[in-house]
Amino acid sequence: AAMAEAAMAAPVPPDEEADECLREYRHLLSPDLLAGQVAFITGGGSGIGFRIAEIFMRHGCRTVIASRNLQRLEQASKKLVAATGQQCLPLSMDVRQPQTIVAAVDEALKEFERIDILINGAAGNFLCPASALSFNAFKTVIDIDTIGTFNTSKVLFEKYFRDHGGVIVNITATLSYRGQALQVHAGAAKAAIDAMTRHLAVEWGPNNIRVNSLAPGPITGTEGFRRLGGKFAEKSSLFDTIPLQRAGNKTEIAHSTLYLASPLSSYVTGTTLVVDGGSWLTSANSFAAMLGIASSSA
Ligand code: NAP
Repeated sequence: AAMAEAAMAAPVPPDEEADECLREYRHLLSPDLLAGQVAFITGGGSGIGFRIAEIFMRHGCRTVIASRNLQRLEQASKKLVAATGQQCLPLSMDVRQPQTIVAAVDEALKEFERIDILINGAAGNFLCPASALSFNAFKTVIDIDTIGTFNTSKVLFEKYFRDHGGVIVNITATLSYRGQALQVHAGAAKAAIDAMTRHLAVEWGPNNIRVNSLAPGPITGTEGFRRLGGKFAEKSSLFDTIPLQRAGNKTEIAHSTLYLASPLSSYVTGTTLVVDGGSWLTSANSFAAMLGIASSSA
């Protein structure tokens, strides 16, 4: 009975493991929270970005989902439209190539005539000790995560946000908070994005642009989770040390992103919202365990 009461006080919203829409959805907030708005979501064709697109669309938002693989984006768009009845425009671009971002944003503005929200979700990651990391591997992660976030934010600023205002949410990570093993590349890249969040919040605040980061912990049903040894971690007792005793799911990340993107957070800018069940405060940073994960997933 005590457990049931606890479950009612802090229920976990349902999620789907694969890149599929939720079979059922119960609104906790008004279904027209984002009515009339348009969100541009990089990395929106898979994982966390896909669920963010779905939850935004379930709250009245039209979306653009943008990344490199157009075929996957088109499939994702079909699922999202079918589940939500909102419009979703799939566009191919590479966050490392500014001219492809410019073309995608032009296309999005032609279609929707506005963009209110930018979600910078595109990223690349893998587990690797610094000693084995090539110069190029480190640079590639910085290129996609950090420079890609700057490139996309700057194009949106110039094309629309400077004159109309807007909201930016950068998806980062807690890796650098305690120097997570095997993650110097992603940890450094995401820490730089959290810094960028504060710089851009300061410079662009007067243009009525809010800029925040959202840092997820371990999230089930994602490529990141699978690659970073999620199944292994799930079976072992690694999650016992997380205060909430479990990994999070994509719907939970999407709900927190919805808060940051919506007028609910109208006075929130320049900050990082950590959504990790308290994980970074307590989880072991065991090199041996992480190396075990790296070799079992290699
Ligand atoms: P994911 O499905 O692999 O998402 C990454 C997305 O980025 C993909 O849709 C990919 O699409 C896109 N992308 C990669 N390189 C790109 C490029 N050069 N240009 C444009 N798009 C590019 O992984 P995820 O786990 O859901 O991660 C989503 C975000 O959450 C990432 O920022 C990640 O760092 C963060 N995060 C995840 C976790 C977790 O537990 N999963 C934890 C902390 C933070 P294409 O291949 O089509 O380009």
